Amino acid sequence: MTKEGFENNGMDGVVLHEVSHEWFGNSVSPKTWSDLWLNEGHAVFYQDAWIAARGLQSQIERAWVRDHANGIGSTEDFIATASKVARTELGPFLRSWLYGTKLPAMPGHPDWKAAA
Ligand SMILES: [Zn+2]
Repeated sequence: MTKEGFENNGMDGVVLHEVSHEWFGNSVSPKTWSDLWLNEGHAVFYQDAWIAARGLQSQIERAWVRDHANGIGSTEDFIATASKVARTELGPFLRSWLYGTKLPAMPGHPDWKAAA
């Protein structure tokens, strides 16, 4: 794969995410599985910052800003935009994460449980 192909296929953000785990995950390990967000939260933050710096915000983010520029938007509006861009109904998934009182099941891994 050429350097240009690597940069243009979005994998550079993924590599940056994984490299950030050298610090957030490897150098500083989470105490419990419930603290795992400390690894992923930081890695996703740096990945998103990299993507934003390159002007490559996610399709959902671009659609959100395009559709609501100079206006207002609600959580339900965001769910509608995300569902439209993803071409699948994301309402149940997003509402369980946004409003649920229990940690939702990990998609594809219903057997994974969070520590109490
Ligand atoms: Zn990660």
